[in-house]
Amino acid sequence: MKPASIRLHAAALLLLMPLSAAASGQDEAHAALSRKSGIAIDHMDPAIRPGDDFFSYVNGHWLKTTDIPPDRGTYGTFEILQERANKAMFDIVAGLDPASSAQNGDVGRLARLVQSGNDKALRDTRAIEPLRAELARIDAIQNKRDLARYMLRAASLGTGGPIEVLIVPDFAQPSRYAMFLFQGGLGLPDRDFYLSDAEDMKSKRAAYRAYMERLLTQAYPKSAASAVDDILALETALARGHRSKEDNRDISRLYNPARKSLAGWAPEINWDALLEAGSVPQEAFFVAGQPEYLTELSKLVSTVPLDVWKDYFKWRLLDSYAPFLGTAAEDAHFSFHGKVMQGLDQPKEQWKKIVELTNSLMPFTGGRLYAERYFSADEKAHMLSIVERLLQSYRKVITSSWMSEQTKAKALRKIDTFRPMIGYPDKWRGYDGVTVDAKDLVGNVMRLREHEFARKVQSLTGPVDRIEWTMAPQTVNASYNPLLNVITFPAAILQPPFFDSSMDDAAIYGGIGAIIGHEIGHGFDDQGRMFDETGTMNEWWTPEEQRQFRTRTQRLAEQYNGFPVGNGVMVNGGFTLGENIGDLNGVSIALQAYRASLNGKPAPLIDGLTGEQRFFMGWAQAFMSKARPDFELREAASDPHAPARYRVNGVLRNIPDFYKAFDVKPGDKLYLPPEDRVSIW
Ligand SMILES: [Zn+2]
Repeated sequence: MKPASIRLHAAALLLLMPLSAAASGQDEAHAALSRKSGIAIDHMDPAIRPGDDFFSYVNGHWLKTTDIPPDRGTYGTFEILQERANKAMFDIVAGLDPASSAQNGDVGRLARLVQSGNDKALRDTRAIEPLRAELARIDAIQNKRDLARYMLRAASLGTGGPIEVLIVPDFAQPSRYAMFLFQGGLGLPDRDFYLSDAEDMKSKRAAYRAYMERLLTQAYPKSAASAVDDILALETALARGHRSKEDNRDISRLYNPARKSLAGWAPEINWDALLEAGSVPQEAFFVAGQPEYLTELSKLVSTVPLDVWKDYFKWRLLDSYAPFLGTAAEDAHFSFHGKVMQGLDQPKEQWKKIVELTNSLMPFTGGRLYAERYFSADEKAHMLSIVERLLQSYRKVITSSWMSEQTKAKALRKIDTFRPMIGYPDKWRGYDGVTVDAKDLVGNVMRLREHEFARKVQSLTGPVDRIEWTMAPQTVNASYNPLLNVITFPAAILQPPFFDSSMDDAAIYGGIGAIIGHEIGHGFDDQGRMFDETGTMNEWWTPEEQRQFRTRTQRLAEQYNGFPVGNGVMVNGGFTLGENIGDLNGVSIALQAYRASLNGKPAPLIDGLTGEQRFFMGWAQAFMSKARPDFELREAASDPHAPARYRVNGVLRNIPDFYKAFDVKPGDKLYLPPEDRVSIW
């Protein structure tokens, strides 16, 4: 599963297209005419009524005239910006000289990593060979003790073994780290893909089976086919033991202090051997995410033959390392993970693969070079001022909310201790001691993943690093971490033309401002509200407040349950609830912050649009995007965010000011009677 506590949000952002000649010149009275609205007028479809479908009203022309690139499942504002950041990153890493004086340092390592990723001829020659030693290691498993050891090794190599390990601050005592053991081990995105009888799931399963056969045959030409049924049966049994993704949103149920209980929950797993294999310190603190899953896993350890476990681990290794094993394996991997699962027509271009490789394995070496080039102190200051205004709005909203005085005081403390991390980290992570070889891509991937895993394991003995970044500066994204009470906005989300000094504030607040508000809002969503200002999990709301919150948010979940995704699938209102709360809070708060930023003056009319119209349009164009149907169905099953059109339409129909700004009336498709509109605060 994805870590439930730290969520990386696919927050999209505002794309500022060159403004068309549509800028109206009739309002000479407004000196602000020299400022740009920041709204891409030429993306709009004026034939659509804003009250019927605001998302298409703002983005309709772009949606109609844009094709999704063949190597993508979805495309829009967010991807366009990420593409720009990727190109910048590629310029940086492609320009590195491996023979330079930095050869022994991290920049030299990064240069050699790029070389190893570029050597396609060598990869084709070697094909599966670089994995032979690891496959032999799996073959050498002789008993349950070895099996337990390998479970941890699979986690350290990032191959997705049956236990996923996450090392983050302890929910109950956030000054120390805990090692969380979560359910894992599936090759398909979620338990439903194994267990559901829906046609779409059945066909995905059949394709997965064919892919498994194809890739295993490359490694084991004679014996592959016979293993497929057993591996699939084992993965299905693991899936049956999985808690559902909806149930996994219940944070308190994910927190089960574990060291003494592990042997009781899962007696067939040799825990001492497992932990020793990762040099996990004796004093480490453990938490089980789903103890009942460990119990099921334990049963499978005793009932499934060792040979099947070995085949399973080989499969997990091959599947996760296939992108690094030459054309035949790469093609097989793409045919399933790209074509079938995302509906893509062609794989990523080589340069994009290089950027992904360096971003995932040495994120902060490339990130440091990126930040030096693309992020200024002025931008940081501008960003911090917007964050401060949003926090001020949150203070006001909380102060006038339905919460008790006591709870309000605690909520305000959470706001006061909240820390924004903007641009790039103050200290940089290094890769001392790691061998990066220009001729050994697979080895590099393994060593860098193991190094990162070992670094986290070692941190189990020390205090929590409260200024550590988990998102690299070249990432176009943003996040909130309730364990540290921080939001992170990396440099790449803060790039021109996103920040444009000639741009009016309305669209800035409606776009990035609301996204910041969304992230802050996670501190008070169905998961974030479980943590206090120190990051400790405790119930600081009264039962009446919890009831009030649940009633309000349940109504929001019901609204989203009614939105169709396609193929008869609907949005899962419960699963996406946290993000939808974040969106609703974010937009509401940012609107107040925008109003406050006007300092009592009327908003200028720009491009014939009022300030509040531009604000809401800023939100809609931040989520301008389109997706392939297969991609959207896969996301609906695994992504806690609602599809883009509902992140716009589903939110705005709950905000009374939207009705005023666009004259939305009964009979319009987005219209909700006032009593049906949800307001969390
Ligand atoms: Zn979010």
